[in-house]
Amino acid sequence: RIGTAALAVQVVGSNWPKPHYTLLVTGLCRFQILQLLKEKPYPVAEVEQLDRLEQFTNQHKSEEELGELSEQFYKYAVQLVEMLDMSVPAVAKLRRLLDNLPREALPDILTSIIRTSNQEKLQILDAVRLEERFKMTIPLLVRQIEGLKLLQKTRKPKQDDDKRVVAIRPNRRISHIPSTTEDEEEEDDHDDVVMLEKKIRTSSMSEQALKVCLKEIKRLKKMPQSMPEYALTRNYLELMVELPWNKSTKDRLEIRAARILLDNDHYAMEKLKKRVLEYLAVRQLKNNLKGPILCFVGPPGVGKTSVGRSIAKTLGREFHRIALGGVCDQSDIRGHRRTYVGSMPGRIINGLKTVGVNNPVFLLDEVDKLGKSLQGDPAAALLEVLDPEQNHSFTDHYLNVAFDLSQVLFIATANTTATIPPALLDRMEIIQVPGYTQEEKIEIAHRHLIPKQLEQHGLTPQQIQIPQVTTLDIITRYTREAGVRSLDRKLGAICRAVAVKVAEGQHKETKPDRAEVGEGEDCKEHVTEDAKTESISDTADLALPPEMPILIDFHALKDILGPPMYEMEVSERLSQPGVAIGLAWTPLGGEIMFVEASRMDGEGQLTLTGQLGDVMKESAHLAISWLRSNAKRYQLTNASGSFDLLDNTDIHLHFPAGAVTKDGPSAGVTIVTCLASLFSGRLVCSDVAMTGEITLRGLVLPVGGIKDKVLAAHRAGLKRIIIPRRNEKDLEEIAVNVRQDLTFVMASCLDEVLNAAFDGGFAVKPRVERLNSKL
Ligand code: ADP
Repeated sequence: RIGTAALAVQVVGSNWPKPHYTLLVTGLCRFQILQLLKEKPYPVAEVEQLDRLEQFTNQHKSEEELGELSEQFYKYAVQLVEMLDMSVPAVAKLRRLLDNLPREALPDILTSIIRTSNQEKLQILDAVRLEERFKMTIPLLVRQIEGLKLLQKTRKPKQDDDKRVVAIRPNRRISHIPSTTEDEEEEDDHDDVVMLEKKIRTSSMSEQALKVCLKEIKRLKKMPQSMPEYALTRNYLELMVELPWNKSTKDRLEIRAARILLDNDHYAMEKLKKRVLEYLAVRQLKNNLKGPILCFVGPPGVGKTSVGRSIAKTLGREFHRIALGGVCDQSDIRGHRRTYVGSMPGRIINGLKTVGVNNPVFLLDEVDKLGKSLQGDPAAALLEVLDPEQNHSFTDHYLNVAFDLSQVLFIATANTTATIPPALLDRMEIIQVPGYTQEEKIEIAHRHLIPKQLEQHGLTPQQIQIPQVTTLDIITRYTREAGVRSLDRKLGAICRAVAVKVAEGQHKETKPDRAEVGEGEDCKEHVTEDAKTESISDTADLALPPEMPILIDFHALKDILGPPMYEMEVSERLSQPGVAIGLAWTPLGGEIMFVEASRMDGEGQLTLTGQLGDVMKESAHLAISWLRSNAKRYQLTNASGSFDLLDNTDIHLHFPAGAVTKDGPSAGVTIVTCLASLFSGRLVCSDVAMTGEITLRGLVLPVGGIKDKVLAAHRAGLKRIIIPRRNEKDLEEIAVNVRQDLTFVMASCLDEVLNAAFDGGFAVKPRVERLNSKL
């Protein structure tokens, strides 16, 4: 209840970035609170002044009484000041003050100067009686004197130190405190360096590394701490000590267990699993890792990363993922040289430090998205990392000593091989991971995704039930992808919505009136859902698991996910001549593509739109040339009935489906079909999709990505697919149930394509007639 009144002399500080103020005050006197008048916004109280300055002048009596005490105090104070260097002006001033100031003021002043804790200072301020104050301050003075004596004994007094011992200015911290702490810090640091040296000597680093480290630590010992290089060197040494030079986990590889684990974690992907098991079997037999680096190539969300993780799990190794997407600086892989400010090791060394063992599984994610820039080519740096012949002595620029990476198991993933630099591709064994069929997706959803989502949302199968038809609805109407990632997200959204219902149900205390709910809602789905939530709330009240799970039917689905995003509109779109459905391959999986053509009066120009690459443009020209040369045979005419299709006619070809750049030769047959439809005025069958490269002679050549394309066509609900005959072998990869739903037409020439694409075939005029016309 005792405080000190003071006058604020100066306020310095700012509110940004954090409020930080320094207050300079002149102390006036002690006071005592009699009564607190109000507390907010700031305390206001009635106080009584306890000591006043003018008292000192006429309090001779008390001075006499305290004579002995104050004399003793004065002596100590003088002793203390004399231990300091008098040549410092501040010390000389203090000496003068000791004589000039009234004795009563001395305890307060000296307490603020010597080394005391805040607690001690407060105690002195709280001591109202002068006698008490003297008594309390004397031990503090003695302590300070003893401290100074010790200090002078241990080292030669330097001017600097004395300066640090006393500060007169009241608004500065007493600077001898930091001086001692600095000493302590220095000692601490010294201890640290010794510790570091010990760690280096006991660590199992390579001989070369040890040599470098010992040299560095020698330098570090001589370096003043304030040098920026000190911190750099120390960080370097700490990293060297932390790196797992010789630390590894023990492989526990058993092929049978690995097979079970892979099968448990992943549905389908038989080819991939088979290859992974082969790879692991060879590792088991040969016991070394020199072999090709596996690279999983496939659309996003097909489980490439998660297979990598499973491999680590089967081997009992640590797993670390290095995302390479967008990396365009080789120092990201290989580190910066230590001469750079802010230099750091590359991702490989960093990853090793994180996992703490030298034989982890590193997943190099998205190697196809490595960039290139002025800072060098990261792909070239990766070459050294991935080459089994070189990577036992991988040298990170930051470390500047070789680190053995030969125990690390590298697995890479990519969406496409097209953008992987050839040299890098050469180091890897590509395993294609194609997209999933609808049936596979349903199985994956029910075996893996739904249980995982339920667990993440704290739901149980007793609370929510997603039947297979609903999953199929989500797959066909709410997602259009090769993998299962967005399916997973949609399932997550459903679980969230159900979690709200369940949580609400559990807290509902009164039972809502069923009739009222029924009337209030006009949509049927609301009724069913709410009615079910009620049943949950009923049972939840009884603290029993709800009997009726919330059933996610199509109505509930629409309620939660909104109206379907994709509708099957295939048959609608082919209601006029000049449209055909092609199949395209993108890194995201297969896609169906509508090719549109129209003609108008003009000068025989061909316009192409829809972000096309050069190869695609060539295909369009090829198609037109072939049709022009075969116009008579097929009775194709332009608007004015001439067999010269481009006579007074312009053609516009458009490839819609997003602003995605499309390239590749596989649209050839589609363009031919589309133009044949335009010039013959006949409709292409609505349920036919096609793919294939064409030549000027009218041959159909094989193309890539057949599985993805067929799956896309199947997803889109198409029934017949025209593919090049030489691609027939690729159909074996496709699941039987998909194959059963579709009819495949193998075409080796364009005649066959056109015959299959039009209902009732595409009649070829008998050759005789053509000969006649020639005559
Ligand atoms: P990617 O690396 O190919 O882009 P991820 O490995 O991240 O895809 O897979 C996305 C999600 O899909 C993961 O949660 C994974 O468990 C799941 N998933 C993908 N394929 C399968 C599968 N065949 N069986 C079980 N889960 C799968």
